[in-house]
Amino acid sequence: MGVMAKNRIAIVEDEADIREILEYTLTREGFEVEVATDGTSGLEMVRSSRPDLVLLDLMLPDIDGLEICRLLKADDQTNSISIIMVTAKGEESDIVLGLGIGADDYIPKPFSRKELVARVRSVIRRANGMAVMVKEGSVIERGRFKIDPSRHKAWTNDIEIELTATEFRILMLLARHPGRIFSRSQILADARGELAASFDRSVDAHVRTIRKKLGEERNLIETVRAVGYRFAEEEGG
Ligand code: CA
Repeated sequence: MGVMAKNRIAIVEDEADIREILEYTLTREGFEVEVATDGTSGLEMVRSSRPDLVLLDLMLPDIDGLEICRLLKADDQTNSISIIMVTAKGEESDIVLGLGIGADDYIPKPFSRKELVARVRSVIRRANGMAVMVKEGSVIERGRFKIDPSRHKAWTNDIEIELTATEFRILMLLARHPGRIFSRSQILADARGELAASFDRSVDAHVRTIRKKLGEERNLIETVRAVGYRFAEEEGG
């Protein structure tokens, strides 16, 4: 009942053109938008207004975006606010760092409005727990693909896929969080949690093998260039 509160988005971006596109597009999509043109005022704005999501440019004239991300994630008052990094070419290593300190996603410039809105909605859905609800231990099904953590088994077309323990763990990590990007080091850290000894090959090699085993469902694992991997989101979800 009643009107759903609008999701609030803070934009921290020093380039006027991009700031205007972000503000215009997201306002039109029905979000409540506030903007800051540098890091210091952006940080202040986010701390006082506590939006649902921050679109954070990495290269700012005063405090850089990564530092802002670090400060917001280190503070109990602001660490639940979602962060999407707005990045330029050549900032891949910063993207990896940002994901490691808690940023949720990134949008590379130049972006299409469609892509922007899709990523924003996806992160908000995930933050609200409205994304595919995957409880610990429950079976995940996507089209012809199915994975069962309690039985440590996966299938395509009801045919079991033979996976090593490490491959299973990587696939499970990705499948439990559709749409979320994991960097190679995050995948490695997760796999090492239980399988240090058997984790002797690179993440890329494991993913290559998993894809081969997925056959027609191989596109469920998407490569995020220079950053890592993610499990495909459901169409139109
Ligand atoms: Ca900038």
